[in-house]
Amino acid sequence: MSLFKNKKVLGLTSALVLASMLVGCGGTTPSTSTEDIENNTPEEQVLETDVVVIGAGGAGLASALEVRNAGKEAIILEKMPVVGGNTLRATGGLNAAETSVQSELGIEDSKDKFYEDTMKGGHDKNIPELVKTLTQNAADAVEWLIDLGGDFTNVGRLGGASNDRAHRPEGGDPVGPEVVSTLRTVLEDKGMEVMTNTTATEVLSEDGVVTGVVAEDEEGNELTILADAVIISTGGFGANSEMQVEYNSELEGFGTTNHPGATGDGIKMALELGAGLTQIKEIQTHPTTLPNDGYMITEAVRGNGALLINRDGERFIDEIETRDVVSEAILSQENGTAFLFFNQEIADSLGAIDGYIKRGLTVEGETIEELAETLEIPADKITETVEKYNGFVAAGEDTDFNRADMPRSIEGGKYYAIQVTPSVHHTMGGLTINTDAQVLTEDGEVIEGLFAAGEVVGGVHGGNRLGGNALADIVVFGRIAGQNAAK
Ligand code: ADP
Repeated sequence: MSLFKNKKVLGLTSALVLASMLVGCGGTTPSTSTEDIENNTPEEQVLETDVVVIGAGGAGLASALEVRNAGKEAIILEKMPVVGGNTLRATGGLNAAETSVQSELGIEDSKDKFYEDTMKGGHDKNIPELVKTLTQNAADAVEWLIDLGGDFTNVGRLGGASNDRAHRPEGGDPVGPEVVSTLRTVLEDKGMEVMTNTTATEVLSEDGVVTGVVAEDEEGNELTILADAVIISTGGFGANSEMQVEYNSELEGFGTTNHPGATGDGIKMALELGAGLTQIKEIQTHPTTLPNDGYMITEAVRGNGALLINRDGERFIDEIETRDVVSEAILSQENGTAFLFFNQEIADSLGAIDGYIKRGLTVEGETIEELAETLEIPADKITETVEKYNGFVAAGEDTDFNRADMPRSIEGGKYYAIQVTPSVHHTMGGLTINTDAQVLTEDGEVIEGLFAAGEVVGGVHGGNRLGGNALADIVVFGRIAGQNAAK
């Protein structure tokens, strides 16, 4: 099946250019100018479709699928050579309350509690209607993904949650790759391909109504796609330190957990059309990332029982406090770093940890003494910390830091540690949208034909995003954007 509705090639065309941009898309063969091929000059193409989706992370893939489910065609643009964006790096889980998986596991949760946790975690700065939409529809999103063939059978707890609601594959494996591969497989089955290495550079509009986009391939060939609607799902600007510092000067010199494509393009393109920005200064650091390269160690490691210890071998914070609080606590330790500390039992409880061990990210010891020697921390201090913590687990109360969920005590080796420090993780501010995922101007007027979903949007997470809410956000609002853009 052709990817495009009434695929039209209106400008000068080059088979070479289209072949490289539309790998596997099928469709009609455009006429070719032999002269252009021989000269290999950049050219301009014009195509037409119903909806253009800019960015093939979780939000973009979910929205494109909903466009197709509504009987319309979409062209999906992705500037990187591969799909998935930051979504591919998401590990901990997808938050949802009142799912079939929770009820099978005997977890009693409520959408209202999910709403309250999200607002509280965001310091009540979140836009309430967006949070309502998120928390009311996340369970549906999980059921939708399960129906599409995804595995979300393991449920754990992440920071700031009052219940176990972070859904991920069996064994606690990383959630992002599962979301991306589930959506991608279904899209491919439906004959929808992503145009990789193709960067959207401008959203077109006429008399305030969006009419399409301009994009460029890696050779500099320009492509204009005319469409009835455009969905911006370009993710955040966590890999654009200049832009971060422009909005929040405290972030000068921070590393990032982000993939290189997270440069804020969608925000810049929408600003050209007069889009409003919501809470753009709100940028989250993830507390546990590797000091040298910002590689993220999932919050689920702490959720499953790991401790955070400093160079004195002592705990210094409730490990499952919200990310802003834990980040600040780590930064105030010696060197601005700390150690995640866990044993074999915790490692066995979470598939992601196995990956860290295999990649050589952990320091290991058969005994606490052996590990302590490598870390250059007094072994008796670590032993004392572990014994005290085990006492809290037995008593059901952490009188030092008030950690609410202590899933297991730490009894017996092997023992592991990972040195961590905070890095820029999620840009929580972004484009202003309403609950239909329509982009709004500064004055709150709808920009006709322009939709946005995912990290590019502001207001869903307020002043601090809870772990597991990004994945819920991209699927819930990605679906809404796709459904409404298709109308
Ligand atoms: P989200 O979680 O909101 O879906 P992701 O970071 O997972 O965000 O995905 C966003 C995707 O958008 C990334 O794959 C990124 O490379 C892509 N992208 C960013 N800017 C552009 C652009 N100008 N044109 C095409 N794709 C883009």
